[in-house]
Amino acid sequence: MTDTLNDSRTSSAMFVEGVPLVVEDVPRRSAAERAQQLEDPGFGRYFTDSMFIARYRAGEGWVDARLIGYAPLQLDPSAAALHYAQSIFEGLKAYAQPDGSVATFRPGSNAARFARSARRLAMPPVPEDAFRTAVDALVDADRDWVPTGPDQTLYIRPYQLAVEPFLGVRPAHEYLFVVIASPAGAYFPRGVHPVSVYLSEDYIRAAPGGTGDVKCAGNYAASLLAQEQAIAAGCDQVVWLDAVEKRYVEEMGGMNLFFVLGSGADAELVTPELTGTLLPGITRDSLITVARELGHRVTERRFSVEEWRAGVADGTVTETFACGTAAVITPVGAVKARTGDFLVGDGEPGPLTMQLRAHLLDVQHGRVADPHGWLHRVVPAS
Ligand SMILES: *Cc1c(COP(=O)(O)O)cnc(C)c1O
Repeated sequence: MTDTLNDSRTSSAMFVEGVPLVVEDVPRRSAAERAQQLEDPGFGRYFTDSMFIARYRAGEGWVDARLIGYAPLQLDPSAAALHYAQSIFEGLKAYAQPDGSVATFRPGSNAARFARSARRLAMPPVPEDAFRTAVDALVDADRDWVPTGPDQTLYIRPYQLAVEPFLGVRPAHEYLFVVIASPAGAYFPRGVHPVSVYLSEDYIRAAPGGTGDVKCAGNYAASLLAQEQAIAAGCDQVVWLDAVEKRYVEEMGGMNLFFVLGSGADAELVTPELTGTLLPGITRDSLITVARELGHRVTERRFSVEEWRAGVADGTVTETFACGTAAVITPVGAVKARTGDFLVGDGEPGPLTMQLRAHLLDVQHGRVADPHGWLHRVVPAS
């Protein structure tokens, strides 16, 4: 990179062919203020100094890629996303490594999923390389915001929304691609505790042919009332069933699920198969690989509430956990349903749940070998 006397410069990176990534000088908070926010960052409360933004215009393609200071967006009140929800997002993390470098975890998988989500919502996909360039540039610029405390991370939120000022119903002609980042504390700072879940029998998350297998904002809007119902019933999270028979378990909130059958070295894992109404989680995919490497059989198939309930009663189902980027692995304890409540295990997180959780965290934080090359080095060792 070359510095100039101007307050913006063109980095050596191209966003897409012919469109350089322009890096502006951004206002930075003091080291003291940053240290204070990194001490107990929580989740999604504080944001780093910079943000990435690029614009798409039909006929021109992607233009005007910039790293700028974190600031409000200016949108026309008729911007299409605000009315018809052409809006998608991703979530991934950057991890401080023991050698002082910073790495993201499987960013290419997020890039590919983001493009798939865009196509499903009739939006122009961000090229996968451009997605990675934008994420890398933001993490590199705000490397001081990657926390180094135990199990702390920098959560990265890329998103794309339709901004064309037009109220007609059709795919918009203008979009923004934005990346912001937020330091995140350990998900379970006081030890891992199982969550209680409520089986949603009134509402569904996703129906065949719908948008359940992509990360669009509307899926989340439609899930909030069921989540409130779960809380009102004294539970932490909602568990979604299939829309057609309301019989098969699909997901927990915004996380995928695994069931452990048996115990010890012979324990098997079952995770609901990707029928088109489940979000294909990158954590889910990573855990399937890790569990197989540890010698466990992993099956992707439909798994019914009856099988779950009967399995817990006769001891076949020994553990249940949910997984996703934010929490990695969350054990499931109590299950509440109109058709009868039941408990998984003894109220403590199961041994395979905890082993898989520790192993994946160790890979992400660079404490064990990374045989699949899942870590992508963004900032070199200091
Ligand atoms: C994002 C998400 C997941 C988890 O995906 P990861 O890639 O593992 O973070 C699971 N279910 C839903 C509905 C999601 O939106």
